[in-house]
Amino acid sequence: MEESAETHRLSVKITRVETIPLSIPLRTPFRIANGPPRPSVEVLLVRLHTGDGVSGVGETQAWRRQGSAETLASLCTVIERHFTPHLVGQSPFALASIMRNLEEAIHHSLYAQAAVADALYDLQGKILGVPVHQLIGGRCRDAVPTCATLTMKDSIDETLEGADEAYAQGFRSFTVKIGVDPKDDVRNVAALRKRLGDDIVIRVDANAGMQFDGALALLKKLEPYGIDAAEQLLPIWDLDGMAELARRVDVPLMADESVATDHDLVEIIKKRAANAIHTKVAKNGGLWGTRKLWTIAEAGGIRIFPGNHPSTSIGTASVLHLAAAWPGPLLDGPFPIGLSVYAEDVVTEPIHMEGHRVRVPDRPGWGYTLDEEKIRKLRADA
Ligand SMILES: [Mg+2]
Repeated sequence: MEESAETHRLSVKITRVETIPLSIPLRTPFRIANGPPRPSVEVLLVRLHTGDGVSGVGETQAWRRQGSAETLASLCTVIERHFTPHLVGQSPFALASIMRNLEEAIHHSLYAQAAVADALYDLQGKILGVPVHQLIGGRCRDAVPTCATLTMKDSIDETLEGADEAYAQGFRSFTVKIGVDPKDDVRNVAALRKRLGDDIVIRVDANAGMQFDGALALLKKLEPYGIDAAEQLLPIWDLDGMAELARRVDVPLMADESVATDHDLVEIIKKRAANAIHTKVAKNGGLWGTRKLWTIAEAGGIRIFPGNHPSTSIGTASVLHLAAAWPGPLLDGPFPIGLSVYAEDVVTEPIHMEGHRVRVPDRPGWGYTLDEEKIRKLRADA
């Protein structure tokens, strides 16, 4: 009897693909160097249903900045029209062949693939009754430490107040958004270093918003402040410029927008254009694609900064499980940023931070349950 129940569980098939387009308000408009501030983020959840009533959920975003040309409508079209025929009738455990088929259906459709890959992982975990980290090698850490992202405030005092609060919560790694005004950037970094001392890690991120000469001049001025990594100063396509910057300044560089695929990362390693990468499950094709990048990064001597576009607890959980099962070193990353910048979440019991750390859940799948009422309220197509 036991054996036949087991066989039954493994023979479950996907019966329906549901797209759930959401618009999630931000607590305060999000400002980065690249593009105007925005009041909300467009999030797409994909829910894969089975005949047994078990379902799995994955998340992606229509981020619409360098490296992300999708809209909610285009993501829905890709998934409903081009991916669904490769999913319905398939086993949720056929992850590798499904992901190959999706890539063949639409080349480099990583933002759409991300939600499907992650929904498959959640579904596998729910069917087997195990957390996703057990599906990918098992737990290597009980909690994942994270960094604080200091958003651009109107005054330096406000920015430093945010830093003090984060420090009091236990954060020792800080990312300062730069790239709008170099004078402000130097002043903010100098003030942060002075305020919190030499023990904190400071990274800066220009979100691909600078040009070579300005970036070089700024990094020269930031050299005395012991920056751990300067993230994506130059546009997504300028790997040669990044390699040149890396040779000319004593600040390690990190690539974010420039790394979507594994091929992008191989190019960065060959050119020595960065020594760290910021991964995001939506940008990089879900846990499936992101884990591949981490493996290549580790082999190439590239440090790993586990991140995300602002995500609900679902997208946050994807990185949480990936990091939980990663045996190598990780930088304290900003992957739970959505938990602090979104005004709403989509699950019944959202992930909560314990100081600067997130505890790894042991419940099946991601370990989180969608809140149907919140989803109805946040739907972008309501
Ligand atoms: Mg970045």
